Formats: sequence, C-alpha cells, structure tokens
Amino acid sequence: MVEQLVQFQNTFFASQRTKEVHFRKQYLKRLQQEILAQEDAICDAIYADFKKPRFESLATETQLVLAELRHAIKKVEEWSRPTSVAPSWTNFPSKEWIQLEPFGKVLIMAPWNYPFMLTISPLIGALAAGNTAVLKPSELSPHTSAIISAIVQKVFPPEYVAVVEGGVEVSTQLLAEKWEYIFFTGSTQVGKIVYKAAAEHLTPVTLELGGKNPCIVDGTANVSLAAKRIAWGKFINAGQTCIAPDYILVHNTQKEAFVEAMKAQITAFYGQDIKQSADFARITTEKHYQGLKAMLEGQRILFGGHCDDGQRFVEPTLVDEPDWGSPVMEGEIFGPILPIISYETEEELHRNLSRYEKPLAFYVFSGDKKFQKRMMAQYPFGGGTINDTVVHISNKDLPFGGVGNSGIGGYHGKHSFDLFSHKKSLVRRGTWLDVPMRYAPYKIPIRWVKKFKHLF
Ligand code: NAD
Repeated sequence: MVEQLVQFQNTFFASQRTKEVHFRKQYLKRLQQEILAQEDAICDAIYADFKKPRFESLATETQLVLAELRHAIKKVEEWSRPTSVAPSWTNFPSKEWIQLEPFGKVLIMAPWNYPFMLTISPLIGALAAGNTAVLKPSELSPHTSAIISAIVQKVFPPEYVAVVEGGVEVSTQLLAEKWEYIFFTGSTQVGKIVYKAAAEHLTPVTLELGGKNPCIVDGTANVSLAAKRIAWGKFINAGQTCIAPDYILVHNTQKEAFVEAMKAQITAFYGQDIKQSADFARITTEKHYQGLKAMLEGQRILFGGHCDDGQRFVEPTLVDEPDWGSPVMEGEIFGPILPIISYETEEELHRNLSRYEKPLAFYVFSGDKKFQKRMMAQYPFGGGTINDTVVHISNKDLPFGGVGNSGIGGYHGKHSFDLFSHKKSLVRRGTWLDVPMRYAPYKIPIRWVKKFKHLF
C-alpha cells in the first residue's frame, strides 16, 4: 500500500500540477475551509486523546494552523516569484536569478503532544512550495490521527496528499521508501533513526527534536512576573511541550520568593484541587505517565507531587534541588514536573548549563540587560525568550527549530516555504558578446589572472 501511494505521488508530481501557484492556493483554501468547518471536532478529538482544554486546543493547535494558512494563502504568489541577483561582471552580459522549485514528494512524521498543529503546520509549507505529501500522525493520539485522516481525504486526492496511520511498523515501511524530503518532529532518539533512513537515499531532512530547556532566574528578575510566565509555559499542555522550560536555575537570593510565587501562581491558575480543573490536561500515554511518576521517587517536593493512575494525572510539581544524576535531571522531562536548582555565581551557572546538549529553547529572566545579552550570546540553542517562555514560537517571521541534538532546520511562515523549496540558481548569458579570455589557448599573462581574481 505504501509503495503504491509513493508511485501515485511520483506520477502526480510529474504531471506538474503542483507547480501552478494557483493550484496550490486553491488547495490551501480548501484545507482552510475544512479546518474551519471541523474546528470543534478537532478540539474534541484532541480532548479525547489527553483531555487538552478547549482553550489550549484553539490557541495552540487550530488557530496557529489557521494563522499559518492565512499567511501562506496571502503570500504564496509573492514567495514563488524568482529572485533576481546582481549579475557577476565576469558573466557580462547576463541575467541571474534564483528559481524556487518544489522537491517532490515529502514525508511528514508527527508526534502526539501537539498532534494536530505539528502534522498540519509543516504540510502548509510543503504544499505552498508545490510538493506532494504523505502524513504520518502519531499513533499515540489516535482520535486526532483519525480526524486528520478524514480531513485530508475530504480535501485532497490521495496522489496529492495522503495520511498513513499507524505506529513504528508503518513508520519503518515509510522510511524505507525514497522521499524527496522528510520532515520529522519527535524525539532525538527517533530523529537519529529517521536521519539514517534518509541518508540511504541522500534525502534532505528537517528534524524538529527535543532537549532539556534551561530557564534562568537571576538576582535582578521580577520574581512574581517570572513565576506567572514560567508556570504558564511549563504547565500548558500539562508540560508536554517541546519548548517548555525543563528546569529552573534561580539565584539563591531569589529562590525562596520564587518558590512562593510559583506555588501561588499554580493555585491561581488551577485552584486548590487541580484534578478538578478544566484547564489542565492529562499525560497522553501510560508509558510516559509511569516515567514521570518514577522521576518523582525520592525527590524533595516543594509543591504538588500527586498522581492519579486512573486518569494519568500528574499534578504540577516543584522539585527541590534534585541530584544532577537523578532521573528527573537525566533527560527531557516532558511533563508538569519542574526542578528548581539554586546557584550563587555565574561560574556555577555556567557549569550547570554546560552539562547538557544544545537545547531546543533557552529562557532568561533578568532585569540586567548585560546579563541577558551575555547568556543569549554564550550558549547555543534553537530559540529563546528573555523575560518570558515559549512565545518565540508565536511569530511566523522567526524560524522555529533546534540545533545539534535538538534538531536541524527551522520553519513557520516564509521559512517553511523556503525549507520545502530547492533553490535553483540560473544564469542567462547574452549572445551578442563573447569575451575570449577564458578559452584556451590561454593568452592572458598570469599576473593578470592573479590580479582579477575572478575570470569566470
Ligand atoms: P517519537 O519520536 O516517539 O515519535 C514521533 C514519530 O515517530 C511518531 O509518528 C512515531 O510513530 C514515530 N516513531 C516512533 N518510534 C519510531 C521508530 N522506532 N522508527 C520510526 N518511527 C518511529 O516522539 P513523541 O514521543 O511522539 O514526541 C515527543 C518528543 O518530540 C519529545 O522529545 C519532544 O521534545 C519532541 N518534540 C519536538 C518538537 C519540535 O518542534 N522540536 C515538537 C514536539 C515534540
């Protein structure tokens, strides 16, 4: 079935239909209409997967996707235009330009944590750039996977866009095929599997992976505002956000006030009995839930710590000064558990930040501009925010992606279009003049060649 689908997509792409910008725009509009018509059903599906609050599904899934769609529909003609570059004088007379071309058939593999947005958002870029696509949503969010499949079947012919549902077995089959581009969002571990499979066919990839995102609160930070913004970025989606702050490094002079402010803020958001709050999601999978529970074992809990096996509920939890070798500090937490670790000097801060691979996100809360600048310049990471969390994802003009272990490539807005486009370099030479210098037998003195540097 997968092989046949790939064949269909090859034939469709060869028909050149997707090269017509009008064609792309028409389908982007159809997709937009269908998402608008199904917005409630999409939120219901995500709720069925992990009780994600409706507000969060609208704000972080459907509305983000609709904003991307609106932008792509408005701009696709402009983005598709060739870009002239200044002609090289050695080519005189000439015209020189960059023509953006679709790669062909694209495979998009998505995770379960933002199951709708992370499947459809890359699709928008792929289609705007003129590719065909096969989507593989996560099997761990089956309700959302099913509605994505239904929407795609309604909007697109399968040779243009198709959804293949399933788990590792299906992913493995898909990865065995030759794609012109693979866009993967998920864990670093599976990212490596995807990268290896892509290398077999020299297929270019974007890898949107995870990491352990530090969040620094220095001695000059506005602690109550920091607590509010950190609690929001950490506990939205029950902490299952790739750019959620993973752990806090707080200056020891501010630790007590920060912890108190965090406790007050969590209660202000979700009430005294958080399990009853309609605004707090559940952990999507049993395996991940058990992993989070295990992270809490033997830790000093400053707040929260309660779990409910029946609901896969993990309370927003503050952990006090965990050992660096403990499970909660080993890998990405990806849940509503927030370790709080104090530091005294910048050297200590540096030592602790240097323990991990390059993270996907990096946060600094500080009133000291020099400190902010130093931190942002000193450390490599995908993207970051000063005095807030997560919001750097919201600007479509900022490329979203990781670096090193947290990923390869960045997308959103025009960056998505560029990502899914091959940049063809083209030169048209004039024929009314043909400067003879470059042809053998070479007559130009060597000292001239050195002087001119570029002869062609
Ligand atoms: P995952 O890597 O387990 O799964 C992602 C996709 O890969 C799924 O479609 C899954 O079916 C497939 N897959 C799983 N195992 C596979 C295998 N052995 N071979 C081939 N395919 C396989 O990730 P997840 O658990 O769904 O998502 C959580 C991770 O994703 C976290 O690490 C998080 O940080 C990361 N993430 C990153 C971003 C980003 O934009 N950078 C966004 C969301 C999540």
